[in-house]
Amino acid sequence: MKTYFRILRYARPFLREIILHAIFILISVILVGLTFRMLQPLLEFLFYRTQAAPKLAPHFRLSVEYLQEWVEYKAGRLVVEQGVQMALLFVTSAIVIFNVAGNVFRYFAAIYLSIIRTKVIENLRRQTFEKLLSMHVGYIENQRKGDILTRLTSDIAEVEQSVVVTFEALLRDPITIIFFLALMINISWQLTLFMLLMLPVTAIIVSTITKKLKRDAFGAQDMHGYIMSVSDETVTGMRIIKAFNAEGYVRRVFDKYNSTYSRLTRQLWFRRALVPSWSESSGVITVGIIMWFGGTLVYTGKMPAAAFISYIALVSQIIRPAKSFSQAFGNLYKGIASAERIFELVDAPIVVDEPAEAQSLKSFERDIVFSDVSFRYIEEEVLKNINLRFEKGKIYGLVGPSGSGKSTLVELLLRFYDPQSGSVSIDGIDLKHIRFEELRRLMAVVTQEPILFNDTIRNNIAFGLENVSDEDIIRAAKAANAHEFIVNTEQGYNTNIGDRGALLSGGQRQRISIARAVLKNPPILILDEATSALDTNSEKIVQDALYKLMQNRTSIVIAHRLSTIINADSIIVLEKGRILEQGNHEALIAIKGLYYSLYTMQQVTGNR
Ligand code: ADP
Repeated sequence: MKTYFRILRYARPFLREIILHAIFILISVILVGLTFRMLQPLLEFLFYRTQAAPKLAPHFRLSVEYLQEWVEYKAGRLVVEQGVQMALLFVTSAIVIFNVAGNVFRYFAAIYLSIIRTKVIENLRRQTFEKLLSMHVGYIENQRKGDILTRLTSDIAEVEQSVVVTFEALLRDPITIIFFLALMINISWQLTLFMLLMLPVTAIIVSTITKKLKRDAFGAQDMHGYIMSVSDETVTGMRIIKAFNAEGYVRRVFDKYNSTYSRLTRQLWFRRALVPSWSESSGVITVGIIMWFGGTLVYTGKMPAAAFISYIALVSQIIRPAKSFSQAFGNLYKGIASAERIFELVDAPIVVDEPAEAQSLKSFERDIVFSDVSFRYIEEEVLKNINLRFEKGKIYGLVGPSGSGKSTLVELLLRFYDPQSGSVSIDGIDLKHIRFEELRRLMAVVTQEPILFNDTIRNNIAFGLENVSDEDIIRAAKAANAHEFIVNTEQGYNTNIGDRGALLSGGQRQRISIARAVLKNPPILILDEATSALDTNSEKIVQDALYKLMQNRTSIVIAHRLSTIINADSIIVLEKGRILEQGNHEALIAIKGLYYSLYTMQQVTGNR
């Protein structure tokens, strides 16, 4: 229930709409309710029209009786003055008009409810997405991608389906039920009391079913997340799956999740199917018993026959809201399960947080310092007691066997993570005290596998920057040796590059991401194996563009091919998270350590 109220809180900004909705519902319920109440005078008039013509107009008072007497009086007068036909016409038209008006107001109420529900869902979705954006990289990477996507899409849809629908049931149905009950008591309290005694029995049975449903629903949505994950991995990894003949394996994994999901949802539907059948049957049983009890009252003369018929009409009207009320709550469990999954994401702690009190850092003037930095992702320390200084304007090479912690080191600099001990600072300010926006404005990253989006070349270059002129884009593309191939594409800068840049070659993709860095023009440049994935030819073009980009900047270059960093001012050799050696190329060759053996090995194998 806590989760439910939490969703309700999303509706709080729409108080005005809620009030209007409630008012319209109220008007509609009163109009329709009175129509059915007026059945009694109409019937009395039809059955005993001679007696039913009071001579005097009733005294005004605010009560159902007055209204009833007034209708009887008017109808009676009409019989006398205009004849039976006209009187009948008058009474029936009054009933129809009231009822139609009631339904018009019901429509208005529904309009306001639509506004509330769509806005609530919009806000919930926005908040979840915002949270996703502020999560640290590790959270997203360690989480199943499909699961996050399921929470953002189908879980939210589920909340809309079941939770938001109950907003309606929560207001309209209780109002209808209470008002109709009042009218029914007004006709016969004995009969109404009798009917009310039937209700708790229904409620208890429905609630035991729904408890079980909620448990199944949670499991089913989890399985749906697995299915999304496998589908996503299959779509992105199709080449590898085919190349390795792994279809069978993928199919088995998928089938397993698919059949479990199917089994869980089947159970869910089985139980769900019980709810309407049960409420339907209990409705009929209730009416049956009431007819028997009420019939006895009429027979023994405790209640006029017309009142009884009017009463049955009211009962028939109260069954629908009572049913939809219990059904709405029967459906709620699935939405609540989904809402809990969404809130799990919304409530996940932000490990790497914006500083509460930020120090301003507009430019990079002196140095970047790692002092005694140790870091682990899970248990094993990936970086151990790193002490390093990157001076402004110099080029640094970062080498070492794979897994030695090179990428992790630059990710700490980008503050994707915070070190468990020690600190990283720029110009003497700890990164933890710099706003993300200011920190990351100082840096550009070119990675081995460029991150491109399914958009035009122009937008991929301008990525993250606003108000960029075409001239700037072209200048950046030229500097990145990319202009030529871009103008040769079908629509030049407006060419769409496909999903993750699939329509371009590796070298072209890399040059676009370099153009992006040129345009951003930051003082600090991080190259993480930027040319490793390229063939010799495109490597030359890309490397050339990179050299241009590195000019007048502080560069940290992670390189597998040592030839690309021979000219670096300083080369840092990492092994198993420790700094093993540091110095320029000549110095490192001279000490004949790890760098020396890596370098000579590459010379021999020709892997420059
Ligand atoms: P390099 O860039 O030198 O190849 P990395 O910095 O990528 O090395 O990785 C260093 C170590 O940290 C490796 O053992 C790797 O398995 C581990 N590692 C990297 N990323 C993560 C992560 N997101 N979660 C857990 N462990 C990670």
